[in-house]
Amino acid sequence: MSLRDDLIARIRAEGPITVAAFMEEALLHPTKGYYTSRSPLGRKGDFVTAPEISQMFGELVGLSLAQSWLDQGAPSPFNLVELGPGRGTLMADVLRAAHTVPGFHAAARIILVEASPLLQSEQAKTLAGHEVTWVDSVHKIPNGPLWLVANEFFDALPVRQFQRDSTGWRERCIGLAENALAFGLGPAAPQTHLAHRLDDTKTGDIVETCAPACQIVGTIGQRIASQGGAALIIDYGDWRSLGDTLQALANHASTDPLERPGEADLTVHVDFETLAQSAAPAAYARVTPQGVFLERLGITPRAQQLAQKLDGHALETHVAAHRRLTHPKEMGNLFKVLGLFPAASAPPPGLTK
Ligand code: SAH
Repeated sequence: MSLRDDLIARIRAEGPITVAAFMEEALLHPTKGYYTSRSPLGRKGDFVTAPEISQMFGELVGLSLAQSWLDQGAPSPFNLVELGPGRGTLMADVLRAAHTVPGFHAAARIILVEASPLLQSEQAKTLAGHEVTWVDSVHKIPNGPLWLVANEFFDALPVRQFQRDSTGWRERCIGLAENALAFGLGPAAPQTHLAHRLDDTKTGDIVETCAPACQIVGTIGQRIASQGGAALIIDYGDWRSLGDTLQALANHASTDPLERPGEADLTVHVDFETLAQSAAPAAYARVTPQGVFLERLGITPRAQQLAQKLDGHALETHVAAHRRLTHPKEMGNLFKVLGLFPAASAPPPGLTK
């Protein structure tokens, strides 16, 4: 039975489910979820992420983390953590670039937070030769200073959606219409956590909330503030999100999110305002477009250096990758970087207070 049929049976028996419950099942159902049943990344998969576009992305992230570690006195040992590492490419590039920083490798305890056993085994292959520990939740990261990166992780966390009406908010739900999954609205109910959104919304507007993201960033922020470290959170989204941003991608093309749950990637835009505020008592750096962040870290000289060894098709691909990561009309502006750090320390390089 497909996951779609499972969900239809569940809704028929129990009534409509929230958008968050739908996302959770579609992405992480133990056997039929999108991330638990396939390896979705890369040209042959459904989408390509920044570390899969070019090694330059992970190298520069690695050097920013390593410099931040030096700036805070190079504590040893420390936890080097990635949330949702996909194929493990980003961590492999981080480690290769940071190899030039004396003491970094010896001090780093590599910890990957990954919910999918299938992707854990891909990560193990990519990172063969390194000692790696996997955990399934940030709460299980051992004590100690924490340098962390998360690329396109928060966009996969389940959101609830609320539509404003004249008296309050109605939660957007998924029910049935003629035996197919369909969006609908729950009853009007007061939502105290959305009081601040009454100022910037009007009747009919949809807002999204992501409690798991706030909890995760809260844990990371407390750890960084009390034990030292820094976090780079990279994703698409903006300072405050407005509207329905749920989208599905299969085979590099967008598709109806309700059409094939478990077979298409589901993402939402990240609301960086709530993430930044959840990080207290850690400080946050000004949310910075990915293109600006990478340029400040020297992506163009690095690209020129790599280009010297390339020609023909490989050179064209390399030039296109540099453009794709940085150009405002490609990923350069859509993707943003949020940096977290202890209030008394400097932000990680590439970011400003
Ligand atoms: N960071 C990678 C992959 C992004 S895809 C890259 O940039 O290429 C999202 C990743 O997050 C996948 O590895 C997925 O399995 C993982 N993931 C999604 N939800 C998760 C959760 N709740 N807990 C842990 N990992 C999760």
